[in-house]
Amino acid sequence: MRNIVLFGPPGAGKGTQSEFLVNHYGLVHLSTGDVFRFNIKNGTELGKLAQSYMDQGKLVPDEVTISMLKEEVEKSAEAKGFIFDGFPRTTSQAEALDSFLNERGDCIEAMVALEVPENELTTRLLARAATSGRADDADPEVIQNRIDIYNAETAPVAEFYKRAGKYKAINGLGTIKDITERLVSAIDV
Ligand code: AMP
Repeated sequence: MRNIVLFGPPGAGKGTQSEFLVNHYGLVHLSTGDVFRFNIKNGTELGKLAQSYMDQGKLVPDEVTISMLKEEVEKSAEAKGFIFDGFPRTTSQAEALDSFLNERGDCIEAMVALEVPENELTTRLLARAATSGRADDADPEVIQNRIDIYNAETAPVAEFYKRAGKYKAINGLGTIKDITERLVSAIDV
């Protein structure tokens, strides 16, 4: 299996780049944010729980997110691998993902991290709000909360993959195509 973590702050371009990587490598895209939004749209219990956190730009609790992620991986038994987008977002999630994959005889091949300056993130998210329809993109306070939580809880996850020699930083500024090319060359080394 070929499992890649696409990492970066909110607005770094993970969703956009995932589409290209999924086609290029024939992998399954697993975005925890998308799964939560699907559940919200369908009014499930998971959706109701997730929404209260997402509306405020907070992280959904680890145990809920981890068990949902495992179920999603198990649904795609035939997958050649996954692009994990928006997961892991805490060190506990990274550890849980590692043991889960190890139990299946798999592992994470690389974490590719899109680096984008903070002021650019806010600009991108506010612009995206017009088309995404996402309430968490439209409110500058919620955006700031998401960025602060990223810095406090999610950025340290990079250390986990650095220690394992699997971390690759990618410049997230430029055209979509330029960034895809950088990602592909980092993954293919
Ligand atoms: P995203 O679509 O990745 O921007 O995620 C949108 C929101 O979903 C986040 O702000 C969190 O509230 C929630 N979320 C997505 N992925 C995770 C995760 N791995 N852990 C906790 N919460 C998450």
